[in-house]
Amino acid sequence: MSNPGNQPDLRDLPPEGVQELLVSLGEKPFRARQVLRWLYLGGARNFGEMTDLSKNLRARLAEAARLTDLEPAEVHTAADGTRKLLYNLEDGARIEGVLIPEEDHHTLCVSSQVGCRMGCKFCRTGSLGFTRGLRPAEIVGQVLAARRLADEARPLTNLVFMGMGEPLDNLDHLLLALGHILGEYGLQMSQRRVTVSTVGLADRLADLGAGTPAALAVSLNASNDALRSRLMPVNRRFSLATLKAALLAYPLKPTRRITLEYVLLGGVNDRPEQALELATWCRGLKCKVNLIPFNPHEGAGFQAPDEATVLAFQRVLLDNNLTALFRRSRGAEIGAACGQLAARATAEDDEDPED
Ligand code: SAH
Ligand code: SF4
Repeated sequence: MSNPGNQPDLRDLPPEGVQELLVSLGEKPFRARQVLRWLYLGGARNFGEMTDLSKNLRARLAEAARLTDLEPAEVHTAADGTRKLLYNLEDGARIEGVLIPEEDHHTLCVSSQVGCRMGCKFCRTGSLGFTRGLRPAEIVGQVLAARRLADEARPLTNLVFMGMGEPLDNLDHLLLALGHILGEYGLQMSQRRVTVSTVGLADRLADLGAGTPAALAVSLNASNDALRSRLMPVNRRFSLATLKAALLAYPLKPTRRITLEYVLLGGVNDRPEQALELATWCRGLKCKVNLIPFNPHEGAGFQAPDEATVLAFQRVLLDNNLTALFRRSRGAEIGAACGQLAARATAEDDEDPED
């Protein structure tokens, strides 16, 4: 038998790769369709589950390839039903996701990396440092596991890449995983309901836009370069002007808008004049703003703003003809910190009937 370490994980391959592998095993190309169906819509956890393949083919597949099967090692449930899912990966790395129940569906907050190297000052993941990017199989594996936890009345329909990591810092794997999530041979999820959230790696935005029709969210969090560079070191590489130019060039469908996420940090970026500066920066961009009250965590050194401050900030944006949403946080008591708050606002807002 071949060394298991060298076997490709079928969910790390694009559909053509799965087809090539089957052809190399002496199968007809059409067999790939059947296997791909098991990999994604069928959510097969091992080759044995692919029951309409011959036993012989299943055995040969198990020799030639492997399947990563993610199962949460721990699930913490908050009073409002929000679940934090912790996964142990095969190399001992740990990642988390958050599964958020809504009235008629679930939203999953997906991780793209183990840790993050962007080092944003207010972010818990940023303070953990960086280990590695996730493989496509580990990204889509989170979605498959969460589908099993969702229920028929509230299926998993919405994804936001707002868990651990910076998706554009793992772009090739992200795009492959998005193919598995959105594609004809994959889970066929709706492109309007899958959102990639990025800190704004301006030099990768064009490749993202060319590589996927998924929705885009950008974490802005400050309205001028001095403050943004202090909070988000990435701004020293890509200034707000550079970021805006990249966003203006982003290929958006006519009815779609970019979501701008703005984490409100008490006394730091939450003043009305900063809201005005933000509104000015937004001019000309097809965008909407999600206001996210800071979710405190140990050692962060920031505070959540009070609600009146948030509402005053929102008012300035609305008065300047921007769409600006603010929703209260969920799941905070299980440490479902950071991204999922943004997650909820973004996912719920995408119900515009236009497309
Ligand atoms: N790296 C990507 C996606 C993961 S972070 C990004 O930065 O966009 C997802 C969202 O969570 C970002 O908008 C980020 O600004 C926000 N966030 C991080 N820490 C937070 C905290 N403690 N409270 C509220 N939002 C937070
Ligand atoms: Fe990374 Fe996003 Fe956290 Fe910044 S906010 S450190 S980019 S996960």
